[in-house]
Amino acid sequence: MSEVCLGCECNYFEFIQKFYKDNEASIAYLRDHGVLPLGVSCPRCNKPCHYRAERHTWYCGAYRKIAKTKRRKQCYFSVSDFKGSFLSGAKIEPYKVICFANHWLSKQWDYQTVRECLGISVATGAAWQKYCSEVTEHWLDNQEPIGGPDIVVDIDETLFGKLKYEKGKSLSQIWVFGGIERDSKNYFIFPLEEPLSQNLMSLIQKFILPGSVIVSNRWNAYSSINNYDYIHQVINHSGDSTDEENAQAHTQSTELLWRDIKEWTPGPGNRLQFYKQYLSRLLFLQHHTFSNINHYFFREVARMYPPGLETEETSSDSCNDVQKEPNDHEDKESEVSD
Ligand SMILES: [Zn+2]
Ligand SMILES: [Zn+2]
Repeated sequence: MSEVCLGCECNYFEFIQKFYKDNEASIAYLRDHGVLPLGVSCPRCNKPCHYRAERHTWYCGAYRKIAKTKRRKQCYFSVSDFKGSFLSGAKIEPYKVICFANHWLSKQWDYQTVRECLGISVATGAAWQKYCSEVTEHWLDNQEPIGGPDIVVDIDETLFGKLKYEKGKSLSQIWVFGGIERDSKNYFIFPLEEPLSQNLMSLIQKFILPGSVIVSNRWNAYSSINNYDYIHQVINHSGDSTDEENAQAHTQSTELLWRDIKEWTPGPGNRLQFYKQYLSRLLFLQHHTFSNINHYFFREVARMYPPGLETEETSSDSCNDVQKEPNDHEDKESEVSD
């Protein structure tokens, strides 16, 4: 059994050249990246199943002794290769799934082009756009926490978007919160929901390790940091030289923090869910190169849908039909309107 890919380079055009109209190569790529299982063991016999590529199915086929007799019985356990995976219930061929993602991960993402070139319906295209977004949102949600005892973390918040009033409500604006280690420059960024101060503390606790020295500007929402296991320093521009030095270092750090999303303006709609989608895709694109973005995307897919965890038994030993794939995606696809 081979191991999952630890890193590979394949740019946009190389990717299309390798996988366009090639389901076999696409499935091998997905398997190499842990999206599909490298092996399946039978839940009844605990023995390794064998794979039949033409049916995309794993079969057991081992013989078991029947208790109190001398007879043996063959195990007919089988499971779809795609069960519980990113491809579960997919209505489009595997090569289309990965070529769709490849295009979605390019800066020139164009929904119309990808749909027409791959020959997929509006509803299916919208659904796969959503599944791809869920992967980068999963990545955003699972950013590594930063800081730790005595490590200085500069935090900052920024408001994105244009202020536009409609029926007294401001639209197209979103608070984004982030933190960056002053020395290593490791950082996280996350959209901030209302009520700000309440959600802020939960983000700080999620992404900043206890014992960190948190440096912030003066903003009311930050006032409760001291109630938690952190050391909180507030830049107060007192003219004091230590404070000025700290203020300068803080500004330099936070400028780096927003560098990646400086030109970002939220798209239409005022729902945080969509802002989070835009932001997560944008940050994912900024974090990776043209050549390695596909690798990291499919490794994230594998983390989100770990294969082999949902292996269930088929209903009876006598049933040797290929197990029907659960249509996880199908349900969701039908929810999306054209
Ligand atoms: Zn790889
Ligand atoms: Zn078995």
